[in-house]
Amino acid sequence: MTSWKLKCTRCGRVWVLKVSYNLKEMGRIYHWCPYCRVNTFHEVIERVEEGSEEGVQD
Ligand SMILES: [Zn+2]
Repeated sequence: MTSWKLKCTRCGRVWVLKVSYNLKEMGRIYHWCPYCRVNTFHEVIERVEEGSEEGVQD
């Protein structure tokens, strides 16, 4: 599993999604936003290193 920092283009919040594939190649994904509570486009910001919870902010 890899954690990815995503930014919702609708509400602008940044949150972390754990998936087993490489999102970096996709650039942006259409995914459920836990804040908007609907599917929205998300920018893939960066990969989050395993075991590091630092730098994850709203
Ligand atoms: Zn959102």
